[in-house]
Amino acid sequence: MTATTDRTDLPTNGVAQERRLVTDIPGPRSQALQMRKTSAVSGGVGVTLPVYVVKAGGGVLVDVDDNHLIDMGSGIAVTTVGNANPEVVAGVQKQVEEFTHTCFMVTPYAGYVEVCEALNRLTPGDHEKRSALFNSGAEAVENAVKIARAYTKRTAVVVVEHGYHGRTNLTMALTAKSMPYKHSFGPFAPEVYRVPTSYPFRDRGLKGPEMAKIATTRIEKEIGAENVAAIIIEPIQGEGGFIVPGDGYFSAMADFATANGIVFVADEIQSGFCRTGDWFASEYEGVVPDLITTAKGIAGGMPLAAVTGRAEIMDSVHAGGLGGTYGGNPVACAAALGAIRWMEDNDANALAKEIEALMVPRLKAMAEQFPSIGDIRGRGAMLAIELVKPGTLDPDAELAAALNKYCHAHGVVTLTTGTYGNVFRFLPPLTMPKALLEEALTVLEQAFEAHA
Ligand SMILES: *Cc1c(COP(=O)(O)O)cnc(C)c1O
Repeated sequence: MTATTDRTDLPTNGVAQERRLVTDIPGPRSQALQMRKTSAVSGGVGVTLPVYVVKAGGGVLVDVDDNHLIDMGSGIAVTTVGNANPEVVAGVQKQVEEFTHTCFMVTPYAGYVEVCEALNRLTPGDHEKRSALFNSGAEAVENAVKIARAYTKRTAVVVVEHGYHGRTNLTMALTAKSMPYKHSFGPFAPEVYRVPTSYPFRDRGLKGPEMAKIATTRIEKEIGAENVAAIIIEPIQGEGGFIVPGDGYFSAMADFATANGIVFVADEIQSGFCRTGDWFASEYEGVVPDLITTAKGIAGGMPLAAVTGRAEIMDSVHAGGLGGTYGGNPVACAAALGAIRWMEDNDANALAKEIEALMVPRLKAMAEQFPSIGDIRGRGAMLAIELVKPGTLDPDAELAAALNKYCHAHGVVTLTTGTYGNVFRFLPPLTMPKALLEEALTVLEQAFEAHA
């Protein structure tokens, strides 16, 4: 499809939709705050770009020095409906004045039930479903494992190369990459097995189904399919490098799980909620996961996560076995209901596809000009370029870091990703106006020129 509108009718939270730098990046006030951060906040908590934000909306972040930066990250795929989206703000304001917390497990409230109803309705498949709400993506993935083990009475969990599922102890075990996520934090949970993924750019011509065959043979021969409770896969891998598996991989893995009584879990924490131009990226291959984990884009920036899935699996857990003090907090639920309503009323999937239609031709033109762009991939507003030494598959993480630095200095908040740190990823809010998106790409082009 082609983008037809200038996208100036999308919510902005009153923020001027322009890139405007009035100081160096970071400016003096941000630098002063960064000094305080260093002496107050654990050094283990890193910062990508130390500009301290005071307001945000549309496609712009405003910092304490009044710089206006283009936001190409959405706080890692969270503010999909735009920062401080009016529907989210209205829901939160109303809820926070009525009550802030009861603990759903003590005295419940309707908002939690309504979010679960929305998730059951919007996730793939028209079978009977149930949901449970949590605080973070990692917590949702942990609970998916608990549920799959309780249902199957098996213990092994299968994940794939380059996978990312969080930073708690169990999810560190599920996550592939050592530095920075796992290094020095072991020992890790047992009964976690990693099998090959499909990474078309690096699989030397092997197709999706061939990679799935390698993976499922490994499961059969080395783990034993009858021992496996769950296979957990991201339909498009986020932290692993925005890896889109070859056609047929994801569905073959799902089919293998079904044939072997294994719970197939789609981790859609990054790819879900209209990010890829579908409500959930699993839909692209028509896969109906048994369980689906969501978080990030679900609630317009409020902390909320969920596991949604087949009623018989979700209900197999003993009463009281799932929960947590804050899980499904009423303010977060109100935010989610606002975000979901906005996505439905504004055809958010079309907005994501419009971003793809605007960005991909520009990225392709850049790839013609700059041979360090080895691959362009992704769907909707989840796009990336992989940088290599020209003519090879050797990752060029230094170039990715240099381009990132250039973009930051020029007022575009970009993010890198990937096992090799050489992938430049784009996750703009769906409220990004066309002119700003074009401008961000022009800055990226200039970054390449500066490093050619
Ligand atoms: C971010 C992410 C998580 C972890 O979510 P948190 O909210 O950071 O705990 C898990 N899986 C995927 C695919 C993610 O992108």
